[in-house]
Amino acid sequence: MKPDVYAARLERARAAMGPLGVDGLLLSLGADLPWVCGYTAMPLERLTMLVVPGGAAPAVLVVPELEAPRVAPMPEVFSLRPWAETEDPVAIVADLVGAALGPHPNLAVSDRAWATFVLRLQRELPGAHWRVASEVTAPLRAVKDDAELDALAQASAAADRVAGALLGGEIELAGRTERQVSAEISRRLLAEGNERVNFAIVASGPHSASPHHEATDRVIGAGEPVVCDFGGTLDGYCSDITRTVFTGQPEPELAHIYEIVAEAQSEGVKAAQIGASCHEVDDAARAVISKAGYGDYFIHRTGHGIGLEEHEDPYMVAGNGAPLVAGNVFSVEPGIYIAGKFGVRIEDIVAATSNGPRPLNVAGHALTVLAA
Ligand code: ZN
Ligand code: ZN
Ligand code: ZN
Repeated sequence: MKPDVYAARLERARAAMGPLGVDGLLLSLGADLPWVCGYTAMPLERLTMLVVPGGAAPAVLVVPELEAPRVAPMPEVFSLRPWAETEDPVAIVADLVGAALGPHPNLAVSDRAWATFVLRLQRELPGAHWRVASEVTAPLRAVKDDAELDALAQASAAADRVAGALLGGEIELAGRTERQVSAEISRRLLAEGNERVNFAIVASGPHSASPHHEATDRVIGAGEPVVCDFGGTLDGYCSDITRTVFTGQPEPELAHIYEIVAEAQSEGVKAAQIGASCHEVDDAARAVISKAGYGDYFIHRTGHGIGLEEHEDPYMVAGNGAPLVAGNVFSVEPGIYIAGKFGVRIEDIVAATSNGPRPLNVAGHALTVLAA
């Protein structure tokens, strides 16, 4: 992404700080840092931290000298302060904060920053007040800019191609273990250009009743549901898709449940209009399942936002009255899970746009029976 994209995000962050009473933003581990400057901090004992004072004062990236070569310089966004092995990076950050913001700043620090550094910073800056950076960044990151919408569409398209192979019977299921199928899905995600596989859930037979099942050595049988929920990271942005397929004609109750979940998923997507609340999206999907008598078996929220992280704002969950705005991107993934028997889930990523909800996944939803 181009420097002007990051410069615009930094501007948005600064504009949000004022009304929240935040004087300085301290970004370290987590997705806020790459969102604002394109650089991802290494989760190591050597501190990396971007110091962003409010107003016009320049942002400074404090980074271990040996990692500085990995940083793509963007002078219009931040300057670099590499620190040598014998320097104290916490003191460097404290000095930068003190010089720019005085002795009693309101600071917002990365939610994922290590306590090791935060507690030391608190000792070095005894007059500062602290809160988490997500108070500033989460609402901003929930509204994707054009570059992010593009990246998310690419990531979803890559996951879609793997889902297409699954639905087309190219990925053998019956007779293999869940772990083998999970490994093949992972290989295919990488072959489609993902730099990383984040998860590849394969839940067969009774395991399909567990939404976050880990693939095991269970051998997939004939006539079973197989829930495949997988995603990777492509150019920094995440994908997440679920398809449930069947290794043989499902029994009538299971086929019926599949149709209910498919309808709930499509009603959830239809409800995702700008101005509708996240709560209403959850409600629309849940109403279909409740009306069919399976409300007690839909045991999770309908969806989560997605971007640099697999799960981020906005969450499609009861009680979240936040209205959808253009640029929100999130999953719609209802499911029905009957413990000890079977489960079904269907998940697509959807972008809220001024032309209505736009699914980024297009792999089909028709009940798919694969030859056992
Ligand atoms: Zn999940
Ligand atoms: Zn998923
Ligand atoms: Zn998901």
